[in-house]
Amino acid sequence: MMLYKEPAPIKDRENPFESMMSRFNIAAEILGLDEEVYNVLKTPTRQVIVNVPVTMDDGKVRVFEGYRVIHSTILGPSKGGIRFAPDVFLDEVKALAAWMTWKCAVVDIPYGGAKGGVICDPFSMSAGEMERLTRAYTQALIDTFGPDQDIPAPDMGTGPREMAWLMDEYSRMKGSTIHAVVTGKPLVLGGSLGRVEATGRGVMVSAMAAMEKLGMDPAKSTAVIQGFGNVGAWAAKLMAERGVKILGVSDVSGAYWNDNGIDIEEAIEYKNNNKGRLEGYKNAEKISNDELLVSKVDVLVPAAVEDVITIKNVDQIQARLIVEGANGPTSYKADNIINEKGIMVVPDILANSGGVTVSYFEWVQNRMGFKWTLDRVNERAERIMNESFERVYAASQKYNVPMRIAAYIVAIDKVAMTYKYRGGF
Ligand code: GLU
Repeated sequence: MMLYKEPAPIKDRENPFESMMSRFNIAAEILGLDEEVYNVLKTPTRQVIVNVPVTMDDGKVRVFEGYRVIHSTILGPSKGGIRFAPDVFLDEVKALAAWMTWKCAVVDIPYGGAKGGVICDPFSMSAGEMERLTRAYTQALIDTFGPDQDIPAPDMGTGPREMAWLMDEYSRMKGSTIHAVVTGKPLVLGGSLGRVEATGRGVMVSAMAAMEKLGMDPAKSTAVIQGFGNVGAWAAKLMAERGVKILGVSDVSGAYWNDNGIDIEEAIEYKNNNKGRLEGYKNAEKISNDELLVSKVDVLVPAAVEDVITIKNVDQIQARLIVEGANGPTSYKADNIINEKGIMVVPDILANSGGVTVSYFEWVQNRMGFKWTLDRVNERAERIMNESFERVYAASQKYNVPMRIAAYIVAIDKVAMTYKYRGGF
């Protein structure tokens, strides 16, 4: 008998939950957060582990392990994406769920935080296998999800297609069509205009806001984008439209550099015709991902996974500004060196919050049974991003702390205040 072996988690990776907690602790101390609230916020409210059997195309049944972690519902129903990846692990999902709580609080939308994950390799699965897995995962979590309870969305390895299956499966089981149970759906199925590009657009908006504070002219600035998925590619395109010269981009196949600037539209088209990968992209010099991160540019946008800026490379980073498109791309051990070097960081929970903001708009539209124009979506999202940036910037001045700690302060303060009004047991 052939035994299937799950891929082992990457061992030398730093623990994202610890990274999240160490920043939380610093902000909690500055705020003088009382012990009761600290204890409520430091652990997730609920952690569900499911094992779902799925029939594969070869007729064999495989059992997939999946998670849904609800970190907090103090501000409202919990919100957060679902990650399909071979190396996703519970502590990572816990950190990502907590980051969703802080993210929703920073941008002041009425959601708590959650995250889901399934250990699988979406790149090696057929559409049929993905559909059966998504439906089985939804069935297993039917009592957890709900438009007033817990609202999933896409994350790495999932997109509108999976959200459509999730919404359909949930609706079938409940006996009526319930659009608002999930966001990031295809447009024809109650998705919102502007949702696909929302995270990348928010990254661009916060990059522009930060550049203004630093007195940098976008048209005279250069950037590299690490990660060329939905977030990175949109951020690159929209930043380039504002005159920033994107000297390098990268994905799992490596990094691509061009002294005259990468033609982003062309790179996106190449990727779309090449199974979503930049592999073989010609109009650039091939360099390593490590070289890209430490290259001589003004702005570094990590837009892939956690822990890419670590104590191993932080010393060599040359950018003046880091805008975190990914969740948790900087390990907490690197924070101090970044601060000593005087690099400004627009932290993940602020920089990539454009996605969940437009998810919120999608949910609002679903509940109203009405569609907004793209202009309305973009205008409102941009206003929220800019207001949130200013709120965090003001906190960083008031407490004399870096933007990351300031963002945690703003978020924790909001959640703690709401908790106080609602009351505990
Ligand atoms: N997965 C995205 C994030 O990390 C979006 C979450 C959502 O829209 O609910 O922010």
